[in-house]
Amino acid sequence: MAPIRLEDTKESAGCLSSIFSSCSRPQQTQEFNEKFMYSAIEPMEQLPAYQDITKGMKKLDLKVDNEIEHVIDNAINQISAELRTISVDLHENMETGMKEVHAHAVLTDFLEKNGFKVTRHAYGMKTAFTAEYSRGHGRRVGVCAEYDGLPGLGQGCGHNLIAISGLATAMGIKAALESGKASGKVVLFGTPAEELSIGKIVLVEKRAFQDNVDVCLMLHPAAYDHQYAALIAINDVHVEFFGKPSHASAAPWEGVNALDALVQVWNGISMMRQQLLPTDRVHGIVTDGGQAPNIIPAHTSAFFFIRTTKANQAGRLQKKLEACFEAAALATGCEVKYTWREIGITKDVVQNQVMADTYAAHMEKYGISFPPEDVQMRAGGGSTDMGNVSYEMPCIHPMYGIHTTASNHTIEFTAAAKTMPAHKDTIQASKCLAATGVEVLLNEAYYNSVQKNFKDNLVAADV
Ligand SMILES: [Zn+2]
Repeated sequence: MAPIRLEDTKESAGCLSSIFSSCSRPQQTQEFNEKFMYSAIEPMEQLPAYQDITKGMKKLDLKVDNEIEHVIDNAINQISAELRTISVDLHENMETGMKEVHAHAVLTDFLEKNGFKVTRHAYGMKTAFTAEYSRGHGRRVGVCAEYDGLPGLGQGCGHNLIAISGLATAMGIKAALESGKASGKVVLFGTPAEELSIGKIVLVEKRAFQDNVDVCLMLHPAAYDHQYAALIAINDVHVEFFGKPSHASAAPWEGVNALDALVQVWNGISMMRQQLLPTDRVHGIVTDGGQAPNIIPAHTSAFFFIRTTKANQAGRLQKKLEACFEAAALATGCEVKYTWREIGITKDVVQNQVMADTYAAHMEKYGISFPPEDVQMRAGGGSTDMGNVSYEMPCIHPMYGIHTTASNHTIEFTAAAKTMPAHKDTIQASKCLAATGVEVLLNEAYYNSVQKNFKDNLVAADV
C-alpha cells in the first residue's frame, strides 16, 4: 500500500494539506443535507472520538510487565541476525503477488525449524501458509506476514520487512507461551499478494482468521510512526468500448469510434471530481487505445481504481462511474461493458484503539512519539487487504518509521527497506507488537475492552 502523507505536502504549491485539513462543511439546513444526501456521507471530520477511548485505555490494568517484556525481547534478539539474512534474501529475490514461491519456502522452513506446526500452500493458495504454536487453553492471537513486491520497483513497500516482522512477533509471543507466563495460541498467517489485494480477501472468504484467532496484528514500514492505520476502501473496474472500424481518412463516417467513448469517460470523470468528496479517489490507465491511427478504433479499454474512506461508500462512487461509462456509450454509439472486481471490495481498516495504543505505549519506551489521532487519520490514502480482516475481528496495522523520508512505492523506499537501520526498526516494532499480543493472551479485562472497542468501531464503520 502507498499512504499519502498529507502533512508532508504542506509546503507544496498545491497544498493538498490545506484542502483536507481546513475543509469544513458548509453550514446547511437539515433539509438541504437530506436532499443532497450529506447525511449519508461521513467526511473525515466526523470520525469517532478517539480521545474518549484512549482516556479509558489508561485505566486498564496491563499485565505485560518487565519480566515478560524481557522474555519477548530476548527471544527476538536471538533470531535478529537470521531474520536479517532472510530479509535481505527476500529483498534481493523479490517475487510479485501469488508467485512468492521462494519467500514461502524460506519463511515456512524457518518456522518449522523453530517449533511451529506449519501448513504450507494453505487455503488453496500456492504461496499462503499458516504456522501455529499453542500451550494450554486460552485466547488465540493472529499475526500477518506479507512478502510480495512491486513490478519494476522491487520491495518498494518493504514487504521483506513485514515478512520478518511476522516471524519476530510470532516468535516473541511463542517465547511468552513457552515461559509458562501465558497460555493460548499464536498463529502466523503467510498472506500472499497484498499488492494485488487478494491474499487476505481469499483467507477471509475461507474463514481462515475467523475460525482460528480472536485478534490479528501486523506491522507495516513507512517513513513515519502511526499506531492507527488510516487505510481506505478500494475497488476496481475494467471498462471496454466496442465500436466499428473504418478507414480514418477515406470513410470515417462509416466508423463508430471507441476511442471517442474512452475520451468522453476521461472527461466525464475529470469533471465529476469537482463534485466528489475531497477524500474520494478515482484514478486509472488506458489499457487499449486502438490499433492504428488510420483505423477508427473499434475497441478500447481502461482500468480504474476507486477509493472511499469507508467500504460502504464505494457504491456511491461506483454508480457515478457507471453513469460516465453509459453516457459515453450513448454519446458515441458504442457498446460498453464494465466489470467490477470479482473478488469484491478491499475494505478500509477498522481501527482498534485499545491495541493500537498498547503498541504505541511500548514504542514510546524506545523514544518513539506519535502524532495526535486526528492528524494520523487525515494522513491516509493507501489501502490494504488487512481491511477485510479488520471487519471480522479486532485488528491493528501500525505503520513504523524506517529512517527514511521516502514514500512507500518509490525507488528510495526500496533502498531504505534493505538498510540495517530499517532492520533494527523492524525488530524494535516487532517486540512492541508481540507485547501487545501477549497482553491479549494474559488479560481478560483487557481483551474485553479490545472486543468492545471493535464492536463500537464496526457500528461506526457501517453507518
Ligand atoms: Zn505495503
